[in-house]
Amino acid sequence: MEESLLSVASLHALAYCERLFYLEEVEQLKLANAAVFAGRRLHVEIAQEEGDTVERLEFENGELGIRGAVDVLRTRGGTMIPYEHKRGKSAGSPGAREAWKTDQIQIGAYALLVEHSHGVPIEEGRVRYHADNITVRVAIDQELRTQVGAAISRARTLRESIERPPVTDNERLCVKCSLAPVCLPAEARFATEGRDDGDLIRLLPQHPQGQTVHVMENGSSVGRSGHQLVVRGRDEPDQKLPIADVGQVVIHGYAQITTQALQLCAERGIGVHWLGFSGSPVGSLAPSAPSAQRHLRQFRALSDSAQTLPLARRLVVAKLESQLRYALRSTRSEEGRAQSVAAACDRIRDALRRAAHAEAADELLGHEGTGAAAYFELMPTMISDDLGGEFTFEGRNRQPPRDRVNAILGYAYGMLYREALQAIIAVGLHPGVGFYHRPRSSGSSPFFCVIA
Ligand code: SF4
Repeated sequence: MEESLLSVASLHALAYCERLFYLEEVEQLKLANAAVFAGRRLHVEIAQEEGDTVERLEFENGELGIRGAVDVLRTRGGTMIPYEHKRGKSAGSPGAREAWKTDQIQIGAYALLVEHSHGVPIEEGRVRYHADNITVRVAIDQELRTQVGAAISRARTLRESIERPPVTDNERLCVKCSLAPVCLPAEARFATEGRDDGDLIRLLPQHPQGQTVHVMENGSSVGRSGHQLVVRGRDEPDQKLPIADVGQVVIHGYAQITTQALQLCAERGIGVHWLGFSGSPVGSLAPSAPSAQRHLRQFRALSDSAQTLPLARRLVVAKLESQLRYALRSTRSEEGRAQSVAAACDRIRDALRRAAHAEAADELLGHEGTGAAAYFELMPTMISDDLGGEFTFEGRNRQPPRDRVNAILGYAYGMLYREALQAIIAVGLHPGVGFYHRPRSSGSSPFFCVIA
């Protein structure tokens, strides 16, 4: 089978960090951060500014195994010079400015493509750094040609692998990396080296400008007008939301969304979630990228109890600790705790102790259940008297919830589920298989559908 061509941009990523190349090229994870958006804007502006004098040309060559689009190709003194435009600053020191290694590889690869296409030797490429308004010359010498060849060869090897390369040793690269929210370098270092940097990045990638749009009123609908979502209420004027400002859309109850609006969300990788009347999750259309390699690794890891049990234990222990802490705090009083309250807290404590040493997932489920029963037994005690008796709790019930407390719980669980689902899908994992509960293949599981 013919190997697909590598993009020159992927060689730039490879020179930056092998893991970045793998995530983008092999796992097809793309997440544009502010810098990426700014870079795209720059290319549009250059094209607008330079008008007809610019040729942004697409090249590909099967022999080299690469393809790419040169920003600008100019002829100077009878020779052709490819230009690459960058938003940031150049490398080197004042008076001795140079192109970054990644940009050298990129312009070197473009030079080879132009050479093969036009049949003329290219001796020089140029990189324009807009932040310091400097154009740096890059010699297309033998050394750079060898480096480009080595990068292509390494990229091909990585493309065949099902293992993600490790995170880079140079942590400063991660700070500016657009894929840090899904690569999770701090977590990866924690997992492999036991290193806790104390400041783990947020698991759920935040949309740079995105807001969550909740459409709650029955009979309201979300439609599309150009690049805007239009929220139409029954008695309210239409609200127009530029799609660039939307992070995700949540449709509650019987609110509607049109096919045209769904298409716009799918095109922009914006998740759409449906919640039932009580806030229970019904389904999701979520942005992700399919990757057989990633799912294979996930399924392999999740079929090994040596990996899943410690994770499940930590999860249950964290939940029980949190329940105990909250129960103790909200039942504190000057008269001391009633005997029944103290006994329920003791049961959570005991479940916590046992869960920390559980030898099997079924055993953990038992301890989690014991803790949950004791916690919900305490719930009436934890509801403040200031609420005037409007909030009562006589046990957990759902679908439909029969009191206000259960309605709030159902709604909050639904929102939490949506956040967790989004986070799982955003890092490219399959949400149907986890490390604790057995996979559910039918019944009441909410559907999710991935935007390809
Ligand atoms: S976050 Fe760091 S390790 Fe991960 S892809 Fe980016 S640069 Fe590489």
